[in-house]
Amino acid sequence: MEPRDLSAHVAYQAGRGIEEVARELGIDPDDLVKLASNENPFGPSPAAVDAIRDAAGNASTYPKASHTDLTARLADRWNVESEQVWLANGGDGALDYLSRAMLDPGDTVLVPSPGFAYYGMSARYHHGEVNEYRLSAEDGFSLTADTVLSQYDGERIVYLTSPHNPSGGRFSLDAVTKIADETDEETLVLVDEAYGEYADGPSAISLLAESDDSDTSAGVSGNRAPRDDSDAPTGASGNHAPRDDVAVLRTFSKAYGLAGVRLGYAVVPEEWADAYARVNTPFAASELACRGGLAALTDDEHVEKSIETARWAREYIYETLDAPTWESHGNFVLAEVGDASAVAEAVQERGVILRDCTSFGLPDCVRITCGTKDETRRAVRELNEVLSS
Ligand SMILES: *Cc1c(COP(=O)(O)O)cnc(C)c1O
Repeated sequence: MEPRDLSAHVAYQAGRGIEEVARELGIDPDDLVKLASNENPFGPSPAAVDAIRDAAGNASTYPKASHTDLTARLADRWNVESEQVWLANGGDGALDYLSRAMLDPGDTVLVPSPGFAYYGMSARYHHGEVNEYRLSAEDGFSLTADTVLSQYDGERIVYLTSPHNPSGGRFSLDAVTKIADETDEETLVLVDEAYGEYADGPSAISLLAESDDSDTSAGVSGNRAPRDDSDAPTGASGNHAPRDDVAVLRTFSKAYGLAGVRLGYAVVPEEWADAYARVNTPFAASELACRGGLAALTDDEHVEKSIETARWAREYIYETLDAPTWESHGNFVLAEVGDASAVAEAVQERGVILRDCTSFGLPDCVRITCGTKDETRRAVRELNEVLSS
């Protein structure tokens, strides 16, 4: 027998892992710096590590209370109802739930190119088809409403990555609003904020929240630094009815340093939030993940340190790297280096793993994750040496 026709499907290409590369080069993994997958260089919050350790003893029970607690906590943070928070096995799992909830066989989705590969993969798993909107290096991968709308053709889901991976650019909230306004009633605008903590300005979740005087668009409870929206663009707050055609993706994999536990969520409009019960894989997030996530949400210091260091690293890379870069609002910087696969390979021989962006359709770019200060300095030094030789 055979699986169904998977010829249109592509395999996800992850950044290369430390063990894999160390084995190949025959060196100690501790001598390698991995800046290829936008992971948090500080690891998880110590509070999350403790919580996961404590939860290990409960691993024999299904996660019920922890799921409820985490959902409530996030709902409170974003000023939405608990039902609107769709917990999942990573942000990627939340993308699947949205595909399940939205797509009928043959429906099309619109994804950015270059962009995050999993959007199209998830749509295809769910018997959908994929159209792309092009972002061009020439205009700095500019993310405007017109870029998307000019290439929109009635797709069921339109994916906006903000901050965008791999370019680092972002959509303004006004652009998100315009896209949602000008697309069909039955088109969902899915804003992927996997790197939202690193960007200044409000989350698109504010478009889903009940607006009131207390302006919780900042979502500050328990997390001050990332959401200082005192100079937020208009549309962030003030009086608006919550939208029914925008969903927002967030993850614990990046700023919270929990990529290994697989925990993410979508925030969806209240109107159809109850669809979760009909599409989620039972116990969508594990006991360890939920406990780790709850603890991570209490550790502002860890998130703030992560964001501050990424900010420093972005500036350091723009200023010190001998190659053109694009302004980034995430924890990574895209750089134009010529033959990316050759450059990434040469830098790797010097012990630094970067992301060759050939698989994103950018064969002359590498993406450098913001590391600790030492790691970032070392990456730039090695990359500069390779570029000069
Ligand atoms: C990392 C990432 C995600 C989510 O990753 P998970 O680990 O599944 O939470 C989603 N979108 C983009 C653009 C990403 O870079």
